[in-house]
Amino acid sequence: MKNLEMTYNETWVVRDNKLKELNISYENFLKSPYWSRLRLMTRSKENYSKCELCNSDKVELHHSTYKWIGTSRELSPIKALCHHHHNMIHEFAKETGISIRISTNLFTAYSDKEAIKQGKLVYKEIHKVYNEYCKKYNCSLEQRRSYKLVVGLQQRFY
Ligand SMILES: [Zn+2]
Repeated sequence: MKNLEMTYNETWVVRDNKLKELNISYENFLKSPYWSRLRLMTRSKENYSKCELCNSDKVELHHSTYKWIGTSRELSPIKALCHHHHNMIHEFAKETGISIRISTNLFTAYSDKEAIKQGKLVYKEIHKVYNEYCKKYNCSLEQRRSYKLVVGLQQRFY
């Protein structure tokens, strides 16, 4: 197993391995007092109060990787996202075959013009898929602009 999950399937291999270590199903994990506590803790934190992509204050917690599930580092890859964007990141990863981690980074981290230049070809492909998704999810122009998805696929993610 590579250190970082790159493909969609690897995301779930990482999650399942972690859950196996913890001896709990994902369903029960989400119902656990541990997860409830963690969710509660995020409520009081500024950076979890709004969707990272559109500033909606109706948020869900999103694991960009399950690598740290059940550990003291669990919160660091967790993002607050509205239902719409949470769904979009998952669907985008599923459709393109990239890991949830990379999909999350695409949608949240990129505004680097230099990265776009370097990854021009990939950018075009991703942009096409992105446009299809915006259509599928019926995104408003405002939502599209809020994506910060100036899709730069940098080498460090591939
Ligand atoms: Zn949102």
